[in-house]
Amino acid sequence: MKITPIIGLEVHVELNTKSKMFCACSAQHFHIPPNSHTCPVCLSLPGALPVPNKTACLWCLKLGLALNCQINKHSFFERKNYFYPDLPKGYQISQYQKPFTVGGFLKIDGQKIGINRVHMEEDTAKSQHSDGSTLLDFNRSGVPLVEIVSEPDIYSVNLVKTYFQKIQQIVRYLKISDADVEKGQMRCEPTINLKIEQNGQTFYTPLVEIKNVASFTGVLQALEYEIKRQSQEFKKTNQVKNDTNKTTRGWNPDKGSTFLQRQKEGSADYRYFPEPDIPPIEWSKKDIKKLKLSLPELPDQKIERYKKDFGLSDYDAVRLCENPVFAFAYEKAIGKNPSQSFAKFVANLFLGPLNKHLNETEKQLDPNKIDHIFFKDLFDSVQKSKISSTVAKQLIVKSYQTGQNPLKIAKSQNLLQISDTVEIEKLVRQVIKDNPKAVEDYRNNPNTIGFLIGQVMQASKGSANPQLVKQVLEKLLKNKQY
Ligand code: ZN
Ligand code: MN
Repeated sequence: MKITPIIGLEVHVELNTKSKMFCACSAQHFHIPPNSHTCPVCLSLPGALPVPNKTACLWCLKLGLALNCQINKHSFFERKNYFYPDLPKGYQISQYQKPFTVGGFLKIDGQKIGINRVHMEEDTAKSQHSDGSTLLDFNRSGVPLVEIVSEPDIYSVNLVKTYFQKIQQIVRYLKISDADVEKGQMRCEPTINLKIEQNGQTFYTPLVEIKNVASFTGVLQALEYEIKRQSQEFKKTNQVKNDTNKTTRGWNPDKGSTFLQRQKEGSADYRYFPEPDIPPIEWSKKDIKKLKLSLPELPDQKIERYKKDFGLSDYDAVRLCENPVFAFAYEKAIGKNPSQSFAKFVANLFLGPLNKHLNETEKQLDPNKIDHIFFKDLFDSVQKSKISSTVAKQLIVKSYQTGQNPLKIAKSQNLLQISDTVEIEKLVRQVIKDNPKAVEDYRNNPNTIGFLIGQVMQASKGSANPQLVKQVLEKLLKNKQY
């Protein structure tokens, strides 16, 4: 028996526009008193008229384009009818027949995951359940929300994670949302069933939609749980998917299990119809062209460019591009038209010591603290053997912390490497003189040279160029010139 999970994902992203989707209220809804950013429109008062936020619409189109979708030149909003206390007008303004964008894909490790649609809608109010009553905060009501619906092309829980992170990354590159999962700015609801291959036959288990899971980890756990539950259920009942046995399940994090919420409503139950208060929207060819030109370089394109232009490994390029702020700072550090060796040198400093420093201090990289000249000076000094690459790693972190040129720090802390042969010869002669036993050892076994190198390095307080020390030592010992 071979089991393959078939997963589709609905991802919701809150846009960080200044105002809400259909009114002029501020869309900011964190750390403010409840119900302070509200008006008749977002409180759903009767007779209030919605006016679409153009920026939000354009950002939705941008995301659609970034996910390789086509733009519907003719599009309109619709009412998705259902009642819930956080949606007192009885419907959500969303899109159904003619979403802004359709038919895209996202490539992950060479696999294409179909994007059915990227459409625009509004967020609901926030319910807070306490002591048997429910409090409602309408600050979130009407905040622009983009929904990205994938095709059921995701065949593992791991891929769900990658897909989600990749959308998050693209959203951040487009600067249309912070996409902070913990703040609920990015949420996801999967549908899952199993393809079961047995004795030459193929079966599909009933479709399950998992809803209202508070955390992304919870979503992944619920999926793992469903894979087990559905395969056990199939063994018991042999029930297969049909039009009527779709269900919606919730996730109980305490029990670590999903539970039946309701038989799934089909889209017909939402009684979608065009929103009569908002005229249809037409996008001209010119609008679309302008929008396409305004797209920034996206992560995959950036990764390719780093590999091609800077000769970086796939691994390094991917890591540098993970976060747009990091990539921006990196490009600031290498400056215009860098040589490959310089670009690689800077990449190593970013991914090594700087990254380590950020992890240790639990901070985000601040691009304002990145100065091209500092990296250039450091690179030149390492090339000229004035600074060892080990010291360069320490210097760049100190320089990042203090805003001082690394060479200045090197000078003030005596970290400049001694590459002056005369100077080194002096030290070497002294060490040979002081360590006759070690010299004897070296005569019997040249591998013991490490001890003598160590002595010279110590005598130089770590500032001698170790390669040069070794060369000079070998030369003097060989020719017995001491
Ligand atoms: Zn409002
Ligand atoms: Mn939605």
